[in-house]
Amino acid sequence: MTLALISHPDCALHQTVSYHPDTAERLSAIQDQLLASGLEMILHHYQAPLVTREQLERVHSADYLDDIFHKLDTQDQVWLDADTMMMPGTLTAAQRAAGAVIEAVDLVMQDRHQVVFCAVRPPGHHAERDRAMGFCLFNNVAVGAAHALAKMGGRKLAIIDFDAHFGNGTEQIFRDNDDVLICSCFQHPYYPDCGEPSYEGHIINVPLAAGAGGAELRAGVQQHWLPTLTRFQPELILISAGFDGHREDDMSELNLVEDDYAWLSEQIKAVADQYAGGRIVSVLEGGYALSSLGRSVVAHLKALLG
Ligand SMILES: [Zn+2]
Repeated sequence: MTLALISHPDCALHQTVSYHPDTAERLSAIQDQLLASGLEMILHHYQAPLVTREQLERVHSADYLDDIFHKLDTQDQVWLDADTMMMPGTLTAAQRAAGAVIEAVDLVMQDRHQVVFCAVRPPGHHAERDRAMGFCLFNNVAVGAAHALAKMGGRKLAIIDFDAHFGNGTEQIFRDNDDVLICSCFQHPYYPDCGEPSYEGHIINVPLAAGAGGAELRAGVQQHWLPTLTRFQPELILISAGFDGHREDDMSELNLVEDDYAWLSEQIKAVADQYAGGRIVSVLEGGYALSSLGRSVVAHLKALLG
């Protein structure tokens, strides 16, 4: 089992206003904990390439991409929605973030590594086909999933999303594609005010009430995710790995701790080992409390290593 990490210094170029939660320090906090935990010693590092226009167009419309790529032609900064800011370095950071997942998919599909973690920002799972939203410009995990489907020739993959917020963009992009199983758990009702409960078909949405913690998460995963994953038998697993459900993170009212992320990651690894040759691509989404973010990523990666 080998573990690779993909990132790029350009992901720090996305500078937001001082009060914005998505800071470049998030990636430094992860790096600090990888060093402190000793995981850094066994990691294989890769630099994220820039995603190509063709790779983005598998999940985003040409009109949306034209707009984003030229947004700053006549201005220095712009708010794409109430939470999502674009500054001069943002586009490059977003291109690296999506490019990282392309590279990660290639690495696991070529059997060069079994598990690859993309330490990138801005995050992606709120970005819809035609719309930036909730800190997200390009839907990184969806771009990687579409690349995998193109490369795998229509085989099946699963996207697992445990960010505290519902991944509305990912659901929108793959709603009509039952080659993609999406298993999500998230605080509900909460931002982005969608994500209806769904326990059948290829969209499995397990809402968690405000205040829910590990017990509720585990019950939902055991009752709804695992039986569906076993039936579906994914040949690749991608993870939207958001750690803002940690009890130290103010961005949600969930009460998860490192042990919960470790347990969840063990379950995902067991499915990947059984059906997907162990192939897992995990992509950072949320997680804004720096200390718990670093510790949670370490717990996640140690469990994926086994
Ligand atoms: Zn989130």
